[in-house]
Parts: sequence; structure tokens; C-alpha cells
Amino acid sequence: MEILRSPREIAQMRKAGLLVWEVHRRASSMIRPGVTTAEIDAAVDGFFVRHNAIPLFKGVPGEVPFPAATCISVNDEVVHGIPGSRKLVEGDIVSIDTGCKLGGWCGDAAATYPVGRIAPDVQRLLDVTRNVLSLAIALLDRRQRWSQVAAEMELYVKKHKFSIVEAFVGHGIGREMHEDPQVPNFVDHKLRRGSGDFRLAKGLVIAIEPMVNMGNKRVRTKPDHWTQVTVDGMPSAHFEHTVAITENGPLVLTAGPNGESW
Ligand code: MG
Repeated sequence: MEILRSPREIAQMRKAGLLVWEVHRRASSMIRPGVTTAEIDAAVDGFFVRHNAIPLFKGVPGEVPFPAATCISVNDEVVHGIPGSRKLVEGDIVSIDTGCKLGGWCGDAAATYPVGRIAPDVQRLLDVTRNVLSLAIALLDRRQRWSQVAAEMELYVKKHKFSIVEAFVGHGIGREMHEDPQVPNFVDHKLRRGSGDFRLAKGLVIAIEPMVNMGNKRVRTKPDHWTQVTVDGMPSAHFEHTVAITENGPLVLTAGPNGESW
């Protein structure tokens, strides 16, 4: 069952979200050919530590605990890429996903960035993925239930001839990074039956995170136990914001000080 947050709690979460936005700005400013994904991760980790924030991704349990403050996923890597010695090259796309806990509250956001000049069809993949997140946010106070938003997200991506990844979904967020409810970017069997559906009530705080593949939706796990790659080897993009539904409509908690997004 999802938890509804008070305006005071949402204001606390905004502080964590703003720090996540700032760290994204810093990380994205480092993106250029030749930089390693480990260098970007180290900057994110250091930034959180200097601001008394706990990086949320480090130590997330799995076959092996996640070893870094960020998930960095390049090209055909969908999500959960482990930062390392890989150097970015011109024409790559790189997804940076990170979150922190500040004052006991969590923020989580992801964006996919171009490295120098990228192919036009890859740029279109980034645009469609960013736009489907914006669409979902805009619908939060115009629809009654999440299943209605998910259906429109799915339709939007299909219309652009790309595929929504179904193996991973968004999530409620608050005191913990992953809380109820699950937030799929498509209408799954649970939403269709109504059991996984939830009301878009004031006070709801969710991380919405569409992952869109240029080819088909299938993904597989690499031998490092974490990195998810497309089975067909085609590129994938990922955008995420932590969003609250307030009296005044949807509030993007991981946006910049003036509400600026990616
Ligand atoms: Mg997330």
C-alpha cells in the first residue's frame, strides 16, 4: 500500500531531490570523449559525501552488492551499469542514474546524455524517452489512476516505433528508495486486473523511470550480475524523476531550483 506524504514531508524530500539534480549537473558537465565512467562516479560520490548525503545505490543487495554511487549505462546498456575503466567515445549515449538520502529522505533521478555528436536516430531515442517521462508527469493530476498514465506512455512510445522495457519499473519513494507501489511504464497484467493499480492521490511520491529501446524490448543481465543490456545490441535510453502530487499539481522533486528538468 502506498504512503501519502504531508506538504512538510514533501518539502524535506525536495531538499534531497535538489541535491540529486545538482549532482546530475556536475556529472553531465564531465561527459566528453576520453572520460571514464569511474571518474564520473567518483565525482558523484564525493559530492554526496561533501553534502552529508548518503549515496543510495552503493551496497544495494544482489548476487554481489552494487559497488558504486551511480549506475552508468552506455549505448546498449539499459540500466544498472557498473562504473569502471570504460572511456566514453564520441557518438556514445550515457545514462547516469543516481540517488541519495538527505535528512532521512530519498531522491532518485536518471538521464541519458549524448557524448559529442550522435546519430539522428539515437537523438530521436533520447527525445522520445525524455518526452514520455514529461508526458507521464503532466498527466499525474489529469488522470485518476496510474494505469491510465501507463497506457498513454506505452502508446506514445509505440507510435514512435520504439519499445518500452518491461523488465524494470519505477517505484514509490520516501524514507526508502524503493517503496510501494511499483510504477510500470506500460499496462501489465496486474494493472489490467486492477490489483497493481493505484489512485493518483495528493501526497503520492513516485519515481517514474521509462526505459526505451530502439529495437525490441528484450534485455539480459551481463556476467557482472548487474548490467542490463539489450538482447539485440541496439541502444537504450532512460530518464527518471522523483515526482510528488501536490495541491498545486505535480511537483518534480529532482528538478532544478527553478523547476528546470533535463
Ligand atoms: Mg529509480
